Amino acid sequence: MPRSGRGPMKKRSSHARPQATVRKKILVVEDDATSMKFLSLLLEGAGYEVFQATYSLPALFRVVRNAPDLILADLQMPIMNGLDLIRQLKGHRDTAHIPIVVVTASDDAANQKAAFEAGCVGYHTKPVDARELLKQVAGLVK
Ligand code: MN
Repeated sequence: MPRSGRGPMKKRSSHARPQATVRKKILVVEDDATSMKFLSLLLEGAGYEVFQATYSLPALFRVVRNAPDLILADLQMPIMNGLDLIRQLKGHRDTAHIPIVVVTASDDAANQKAAFEAGCVGYHTKPVDARELLKQVAGLVK
């Protein structure tokens, strides 16, 4: 009788997989390397799976490819700014449902108003209050 460690008994049915391995996915869109590193480490430390895009155009590809549960978006970025990115995503039926939280250096009231009008659901100014940001993110992805 042949010995085999690869018989059907070894197979796991998919429902036996622990739920804890299913991490929520967050896309960070940020052109500043220091901010990107800070936000990524913060989110990974909180247990999220992080995807990065250094400006808006690669962010659109990331959204299609990785289907994030939430997006953190900077406002001031080259080629297509964060406001236009939000408008693009909110204007498309496949992406309109994804919550977008702005993380920006701008505390300008007009920018903030425009961002909410474009469809973001949160607005955090740098330096970011990590606790507040994580609290909001957790509420939005659950
Ligand atoms: Mn920027």
